[in-house]
Amino acid sequence: MISFEAGGTGVGSVIFDFDSTLVPCESLEELCRAVPGLDASARREIARITAAGMDGSMSFSESLARRLALARPTRAEVLALGERLARAPTAGAQALVRRLGDRGHEVWIVSGGFEDLLRPVARALGVSEARTHGVRAEWNPDGSLARLSLEDGFTRSKLEGVRSRGLSFGRPAVAVGDGATDLALETEGVVDRFVAYTEHVRREAVVTRATLEAEDMAALGIVLGSLLEGASA
Ligand SMILES: [Mg+2]
Repeated sequence: MISFEAGGTGVGSVIFDFDSTLVPCESLEELCRAVPGLDASARREIARITAAGMDGSMSFSESLARRLALARPTRAEVLALGERLARAPTAGAQALVRRLGDRGHEVWIVSGGFEDLLRPVARALGVSEARTHGVRAEWNPDGSLARLSLEDGFTRSKLEGVRSRGLSFGRPAVAVGDGATDLALETEGVVDRFVAYTEHVRREAVVTRATLEAEDMAALGIVLGSLLEGASA
């Protein structure tokens, strides 16, 4: 049994990653794929940049900016993908979020994806807008992408995003996700524990450093039950 030195009787919170955790895909890749009229070479270049971002040979902000410059998604395309993902989140996610809420825990979604895209999924899962955070895009009146706010930490990393918005999570706080950016929330002390979510992608380097691993939402429910034991509103 894992115990927490401080805050063990607090409200407890779960900070969910979005891509390959609450939904079974990488939303930015999916978005780039859904943009009509992209030629094969642009798609290949997007895939190459995605891979470079994942293996760490390119920074997140550069990878994000270069892919958006190639794909040029519109607000309508972002919202449409959000609605599509809202209808098909990871199996069991909705029930787990509801159960966590019923027990008085805070549920958050913190992602490197577009906030416009996260919102429809958050609504479907029952996560409040105030606890849904990601990259904020500014759109032109015609719906084309105007810019990403460079002062916003989320364009650099999830960790910087959390810090730049001054988010504070009820303790104990447990982050759940598949990536190194999720693990960083724990190693940098923003959360108390990190659970590797491996249903969609399993990254060995992340799993070996995680507190625990969950291979689906049922397993995650059990893991969170033990990590948050004693914490409730
Ligand atoms: Mg992820």
